[in-house]
Formats: sequence, structure tokens, C-alpha cells
Amino acid sequence: MIGVGAVGGVSADLLVRAGVGHLRLVDRDVVELVNLQRQTLYSEEDLDRPKVEAAAARLRAINRSIEIEPVAKDLHAANVSGILRGTDLIVDGTDNLGTRYLLNEATLDAHLPFVYAGAVGTSGMVFAIRSPDTACFRCLSPTPPAPGAPPTCETAGILNATSALVGSVQAAESLRLLLGERPSGDLLVVDAWRPEIQRIHVARRQGCPTCVGGEREFLGAKRTQVLASLCGGDTISLDPIRGDVDLETLGRRLGRIGVVHRAGGVLVADVEGHHLTVFPDGRALIRGVADETGARSVYAKYVGI
Ligand SMILES: [Zn+2]
Repeated sequence: MIGVGAVGGVSADLLVRAGVGHLRLVDRDVVELVNLQRQTLYSEEDLDRPKVEAAAARLRAINRSIEIEPVAKDLHAANVSGILRGTDLIVDGTDNLGTRYLLNEATLDAHLPFVYAGAVGTSGMVFAIRSPDTACFRCLSPTPPAPGAPPTCETAGILNATSALVGSVQAAESLRLLLGERPSGDLLVVDAWRPEIQRIHVARRQGCPTCVGGEREFLGAKRTQVLASLCGGDTISLDPIRGDVDLETLGRRLGRIGVVHRAGGVLVADVEGHHLTVFPDGRALIRGVADETGARSVYAKYVGI
């Protein structure tokens, strides 16, 4: 499961209760107060913890016979094939288009089915993709953002009943594929407010560059030294190529100039007007900065390159 937010959290809960034996959870974010309106796996005591860590604890408490594998990473072209390896199905719990195009290409190469889901406002969509039996994600949505454009976790508001409904439909579609049913090739469009579910058949696009032409625009994107992505209005995720960070030492150092606490496996620091969350692998979420340059300078100053 890529992304354990509102939709992914509902899917994960239902799949674990249904007895799916092994679930790898991938998410780059920590739990924030605004998430609790719709992200049903989390509660107030999980604030500041990595989502995958809090989700894994909750899911293990639901069904201890399921193997849960939390991965607190930002998914990108350089690590996606490793993260997908050894799985039977990819469940899309992401909140941005760039990651979906990347997953579309990676799942085509790995011959894995991919259950897309998206929700915003009162409506959402689910599409079980298994090329060449069905259209691919790019057949459905042929105009992607430019490769390398920063993905965003920012979403317009979502009615919580919508994300729960979309997650339920996604879990059912995932179970159907895992149990060997053929995908319908239909896009399911749900509206929780009216309420209504529509079924729209999606044909493969004859000129699709991805599933017909074999292009791998997103998978081929070059990895820069530090991968930055925008997570909401004033938060930047930085994923530098570097070794692990000793969070104990860093915490002592930052504790002299600011307020520091540990939340699960991460270090949370408020220093000189900046809010940083640092993961053991060196990745960081930096709040209160205007742009990537600002985030890089905060990282260099307080964590070090
Ligand atoms: Zn296609």
C-alpha cells in the first residue's frame, strides 16, 4: 500500500481484517492534527509519529497474524522497483498524480495489478488496473504533470464519509483481484453526498505512450542529489542521499538551541522558528519554509549535509 492516509487507511483496515497475509505500508508523512478528521487509523496520541509506524501498531492490534511491514520513505523513481518487489498487488493510497504515473509505469514493468483510488470533496474514483487486460492509468488520464514536478500532499477538503466509501470500494476491488477475479475495466465513480455510484468503461488508448508505446517518462526521471517534494502549504520533504542520522546525538545538539522531542521513531525539533521532523535514514520534513531553497538551508544548518 502506497500512502496510508484517509483512503489507504480504510483499505488497510479492511484488508487486514479480511486476512490479507502480508501488508507493506509505504508513507513519507507524520500524523498531524488535521489528519484526524478522516484518517481513521490514527488518534491524538499518534501526533508527530510517522504514519506507517502508527498504522502498523494499530493494524497489528487488529489482527496479529498479519505480517505488517512499515516503510517510512518517500517513493521515487530510484526506489520504487525495490519497494514493489515481492508483492502481489499495489494499492494506491497516494494523494498526488506524479506518484500515480510513476506507480503506473513501475507496475506495468513488474506485471503487477494496481488499484487506483482518489477522493476529493464529496466524490472519488476507483479503477482496478491490470494491463493489458484493462486500460492503464495514463489511458485514463493522458496528460500528466511534467516529470520532476513536485508532488503535493495538499488536497482540497474531503468529506470523511467520501474517503471511507472510496477506501471500501478499493478494498473490495483489491480482494477481487487477489482472489483471481478478472478486473472489470470499469472506472467506479462514487459520490457520498448524493449518494451515487457510476460505472464507466475505460478503453485502452491506441496511442497511449505508456502501455502501448512503452515509454517510461516518470521511471526514467533523474534522481537529483536531494529530492525535495512539497507536502502541503509550507512543508517540504527532503530526501538527501546520505547515511543514517544518529537521532540521539542530533537531539542533544538541537536541544541546546530549541525544543526537541521524540515521537516514535522520529525526532521532532522546534528551533529558531523552524519545525523539523527528522527520520533515522536522514529524510526530513521541514515546516514553515517558503520554498525548496529555504528547506535546504534549514537542513544544512541544523542537520548537516
Ligand atoms: Zn495506457
